[in-house]
Parts: sequence; structure tokens; C-alpha cells
Amino acid sequence: KADQALLAVSDLHVSYGPVEAVAGVSLQVPRGKIVSVIGPNGAGKSTLLNALMGLLPAKGSVVLEGRDVMAMPVESRLREGLCLVSEKRELFAEMSVADNLALGAYSRRHEPKGAVEADLEAAYQRFPRLKERRHQTAGTLSGGERQMLAIARALMARPRVLMLDEPSLGLAPLIVAEVLATVSELCRSGVSILIVEQNARAVLKIADYGYVLEQGRVAMEGDAASLLADTRLIETYLGFG
Ligand code: ATP
Repeated sequence: KADQALLAVSDLHVSYGPVEAVAGVSLQVPRGKIVSVIGPNGAGKSTLLNALMGLLPAKGSVVLEGRDVMAMPVESRLREGLCLVSEKRELFAEMSVADNLALGAYSRRHEPKGAVEADLEAAYQRFPRLKERRHQTAGTLSGGERQMLAIARALMARPRVLMLDEPSLGLAPLIVAEVLATVSELCRSGVSILIVEQNARAVLKIADYGYVLEQGRVAMEGDAASLLADTRLIETYLGFG
């Protein structure tokens, strides 16, 4: 391929004891694109993202901008520009919005303070609701606000590839649309995206490319528009959406 993908994963394997949850997955995230991974419950989607972040041991290769990150621990992968917003969102519920955002920049603690402060201001501009609520504890935010905070916190690490695990989980349809619109806008502002969703139709509308994961393997892949047009695929693999 002429232009090298920003993130290139090849032949990734992840096992839980005897169970192989990810069984030889290869995928690419080109610069400036939104790539989605869809598929039924238990297909291995979360396992895939956790392994890419270094949270689970895996075999295969994960190359970010030409650098193999496979041997790196989580914090080094963060510094290289990989960041995951997990399904659980994992905010510090007792801490304020502002402190949660500050912790998002932990991997940048050796950088000059001004750079991080400028990014905090940028986060508040992008998410005015978080600015209004900056002194409120994260646990008292609405579901949609918590998801926005989780995304804003991830951005504080200055990711080049932002990985999102089911950002629509548990949110009302209107809020889901808002979160996905934010993801689109992040991509336009230069962050490449790898997004896992069960809500296939909604995510394919904002994605450039999609992979269908089934039982730990890529069962199908293609341009988001062509996957979206394949009603049989949407119904067979995903039932609804
Ligand atoms: P969902 O959308 O339901 O979260 P998923 O596609 O993200 O599904 P995974 O959560 O990655 O799927 O799970 C893939 C497989 O690995 C499933 O069969 C699951 O039961 C198994 N699995 C996940 N986590 C563990 C674990 N900690 N220990 C053992 N098996 C696990």
C-alpha cells in the first residue's frame, strides 16, 4: 500500500486461558479516518481494544506510525499516541470534572505546564457543559456528560489514535447522536479514530471504513457506505441498530 496507515495491526491474537477471544485480527487505521469495528456480543471487540492499549497480553504486531508498540507497557503506548476510552468510562466519581481532566494529562507531566493548560482550555471550549460543571464531581454528571468527560479526558493525553469502546452504551438516542457527532468533529480536527460499537447503523454513518468481527475474526470489511447498504449484513450480524 502506497500510504502507510497510522495504526497497523496484524495477526493479533488474545487468549483468556484456553479461550482465544481474538484469533488473528488484522486491521488498519489510516490517518484522519474513522474506522469502526462492529459485531455481535462476545465477538472480541473490547478484548481487541484492550490488547491494543496494552492492558492485555497479546501476540501479533501493532505498529503506530511505523513504530512497533507491542513490547511497550500502557504508559509508553499513551505517550506514543494511543488512548482508549473504555466501555466503563472509568472516571474518578468522587473527583471534580477539572481534576478528572487534569489526570488525563498525567502521561504529559514532564511537559511544560502551559501546554497542558492550553489543552484544558481547548477542552472547555469544545465541551462548554464540562466547563460549567468543572467543580462538580464526575459521579453526579448525567450519562451523556460522563461520556463527554471520558472523551475530553482522553484528549488531554493528546492521542493520535483515539480508541472508543461502545461510547453509545446506556445512552438515550439523542445523546448517542450527540456523542457520535463529537467523534466526527474530533476526526475532522485531526484525531484518527478506532471505534467499537454495537449500534452498527449509527456508527457506520460517521465512519469511513468498517470491520465486522465475529468470534474473534474479521468476517467482513469494507467502506462504511457499502456495509451500511448491505441490509442483510446489518440484519444477520447485528439484528437491529
Ligand atoms: P460485548 O459487546 O458484549 O462487550 P465484545 O465483542 O466486546 O462483546 P469481548 O468482551 O471482547 O467481546 O469478549 C470476547 C470473548 O472473550 C467472550 O467470549 C467473552 O466471554 C470472553 N472474555 C472476555 N473477558 C474475559 C475474561 N476476563 N476472562 C475470560 N473470558 C473473557
